[in-house]
Amino acid sequence: PLPVIRNFVGGTFAEPDEERCFTKTDPATGTPLAQVHEADRPLVDRAVRSARGALVDGWAHTPVRERAALLRRAADLIEQRFEEFVAAEVGDTGKPVTQARELDVARAIANFRTFADIVAAAGQDSYLTDLPDGRQALNYAVRKPLGVVAVIVPWNLPLLLLTWKVAPALACGNAVVVKPSEETPSTAALLAEVLADAGLPAGAYNVVHGFGAGSAGEFLVTHPGVEGITFTGSSATGTEVMRAAAPGVRPVSFELGGKNAAIVFDDVDVDEALDGLSRSVFTNTGQVCLCTERVYVHRAVFTDIVDGLAERAGRLRLDDPFSAHTTTGPLISQEHRRKVLRYYDLAEQAGAKVVTGGGTPDLGPGLDGGAWIEPTLWTGLTNADRPVREEIFGPVAALIPFDTEEEAIALANDTDYGLAAAVWTNDLRRGHRVAQRMDVGMAWVNTWFLRDLRSPFGGAGLSGIGREGGASSLHFYTEPTNVCVQL
Ligand code: NAD
Repeated sequence: PLPVIRNFVGGTFAEPDEERCFTKTDPATGTPLAQVHEADRPLVDRAVRSARGALVDGWAHTPVRERAALLRRAADLIEQRFEEFVAAEVGDTGKPVTQARELDVARAIANFRTFADIVAAAGQDSYLTDLPDGRQALNYAVRKPLGVVAVIVPWNLPLLLLTWKVAPALACGNAVVVKPSEETPSTAALLAEVLADAGLPAGAYNVVHGFGAGSAGEFLVTHPGVEGITFTGSSATGTEVMRAAAPGVRPVSFELGGKNAAIVFDDVDVDEALDGLSRSVFTNTGQVCLCTERVYVHRAVFTDIVDGLAERAGRLRLDDPFSAHTTTGPLISQEHRRKVLRYYDLAEQAGAKVVTGGGTPDLGPGLDGGAWIEPTLWTGLTNADRPVREEIFGPVAALIPFDTEEEAIALANDTDYGLAAAVWTNDLRRGHRVAQRMDVGMAWVNTWFLRDLRSPFGGAGLSGIGREGGASSLHFYTEPTNVCVQL
């Protein structure tokens, strides 16, 4: 029998009332991995009530130093169970084991430690106001938890993104009901064990699983007991969640899709730029919201960059995700592969030249049932073509030449999204100048996906609403009451 992953409500793993289950399959092999219990509406209701109960019972009023200490214990416990988290993450996603160790699980630990530090150091805003009659008033804003927060996360960096929200939410004294992606149910369950072992009161962290329309995610965002919604996922689902959540007039934080550009100037150190570009296009098989899918290259170095990036694509090793030498795993599912392959077709119909890839690899027995795809580069497309306008979320980029800095900026900003951009140049002033003109939430110069967790993260346009990270997270996960005292 397959392992069973259950919902976690009110401090215990729930026994299902009826057999509402779905099967989670291994993206690398296509074989069934686990049976996941779906939460029905009454169970989601129970999760929200349990969360409310934990707040009332005292979590919302627990001293900050105790909440920070709990977050640090959670980080230590993840560290103690590091390889268990790594194995669960690799099993669910098919990502390379080295990446799960160095990025996903390492960042989960860092998320807990960083938000413990941030909440412990946070002060309150205060203003001394001079009144016309010469007296003064003291204003200070007391930040209180939002209350019950719905946390909905996608499958691409499941543990990293889950802890990115759960750590600050709990640090601020909220209770959470988490809805992981149906593709990646495992690590949210492990985290339930860790948080309970760290001493989190029952009900402050709940997990409900669901799949498709009319399921846990929808029950959660329409539940009147939910007082804030933080959602990471596609722009299309974000729009649906916005619509569904509107009647409650609740704070929302949306971290959505991207169609991120890189600009490569002709003054770059070509090898350094190629290393960075290769990482930004192919990391996690292109399934990071920050991945570069559009590369604008100065005409003087266009051929060098196209050939060099193709050569680096050729060095990627698609193999068993648990092998230490594997650099690139499969896509998350057959359904997602069909979507990405449709863009491969569309690009060819639009006249793209396929520099490398373009299809599906034959990896032999054992992996032939997986959602594998060839890393792919195109030239010959323009910003008018759908593969250059729409988020593909695969290991793929279009390379497009430019002649002037103004043209490059205009091309990069010609998109409905606004998440991230990367500028590659050795000209210091140009780096600053161009990065500031990117209409995005995060612009990198000569690097990519380098994150200080105290800095704001999020995007504009179709890429989202609001920012999280550092003080931005404290603002989102709290509601201020301003007190004004006439002195
Ligand atoms: P998705 O939108 O399909 O799903 C995200 C989550 O929403 C899942 O848990 C899903 O089950 C749930 N969901 C689906 N329908 C729902 C509904 N009607 N109500 C409530 N919840 C619902 O996204 P995905 O395919 O899992 O993830 C990939 C997308 O996420 C990409 O677009 C990527 O760019 C984006 N993403 C953004 C960021 C960011 O920080 N901006 C980070 C990672 C991924």
